[in-house]
Amino acid sequence: MEIYDVIIIGAGPAGLAAGLYAGRARLNTLIIEKEKSGGQIVITDEIENYPGCLDEETGPSLIARMVKQTEKFGVAHTLDTITDMELEGDVKVLKGLHDEYRAKSVIIAAGARPVPIGCKGEKELTGKGVSYCATCDAAFFEDFEVYVVGGGDSAVEEALYLTKFARKVTIIHRRDELRAAKSIQEKAFANDKIDFMWNSVVEEIKGDGIVESMVVKDTKTGELKEIQADEEDGTFGIFVFIGYRPNSGVFEGKVEMNERGYILTNADMETNVPGVFAAGDIREKSLRQVVTAAADGAVAAVQAGKYIEEHE
Ligand code: NAP
Repeated sequence: MEIYDVIIIGAGPAGLAAGLYAGRARLNTLIIEKEKSGGQIVITDEIENYPGCLDEETGPSLIARMVKQTEKFGVAHTLDTITDMELEGDVKVLKGLHDEYRAKSVIIAAGARPVPIGCKGEKELTGKGVSYCATCDAAFFEDFEVYVVGGGDSAVEEALYLTKFARKVTIIHRRDELRAAKSIQEKAFANDKIDFMWNSVVEEIKGDGIVESMVVKDTKTGELKEIQADEEDGTFGIFVFIGYRPNSGVFEGKVEMNERGYILTNADMETNVPGVFAAGDIREKSLRQVVTAAADGAVAAVQAGKYIEEHE
């Protein structure tokens, strides 16, 4: 059975950047992806915060070029879901639904995902008014109204950030008390651009190609209310922050993680297991963006190359 130099799990920006650097270093590299390349940014319509991306750049167009670049340097791609692994030895074994793979080093770049509301219309309107990332999308709502769903630290901090762009930010929370830290709450209560809709959950999001209205339910009375976009705006933003989960379940007990399941690495992207690296959103870090994922991937691939050299 073929023993690759590097196997990369995940073909989002972190995995593809790792593939590019590994391929250019002439390492025999395989990228294993579960569904299709791209990770979270394939659902992003416009990317204006990745250096060099101008107006027409979309998530899919950026990813398509990243994939092509890895192929140019001889990186192999395959679709499979990894279900188990042995990472401890000099040869790492990855077991997938379709096949078994072996490599001298492994880069885990399986990403993370926001928890969705799960209501009608949410999926269809994601990237069309529904967002899970204020850093990514706040600028598109300059002077618009936005709603933030959630009551934890993320929701309230992101609501504060959104006030720099939106003319009004309404936090929709399912209880009558925020979960966020008191210090963060105080800032939100003191900000006159922020309003609260207590005891409320979003039941449905509506719109023809763009968010136009949403149905909100009062959790106490069960009463439904439809919120329409301001006539002049035609739309509003819905930012969902009800939790974010790393795709790290399968790596539990294999590499060290924090209590929320994010994989711990040092600045060289090394996990606690020699020859096993992690890159991108699955890693414990402070900023989860395409640019930081790509940077992690580059570092991980270079360090994987060094690891292989030292172990030969
Ligand atoms: P979180 O603390 O789990 O809060 C999730 C919020 O979403 C809660 O208010 C929860 O309501 C609400 N929620 C959950 N499921 C929902 C649903 N299906 N429908 C409607 N609302 C729902 O998540 P987080 O805010 O992403 O924070 C995650 C962790 O990161 C926390 O430990 C947090 O302290 C940490 N964090 C820290 C900082 C910081 O220190 N600056 C910043 C960001 C995150 P309930 O309150 O009713 O459960």
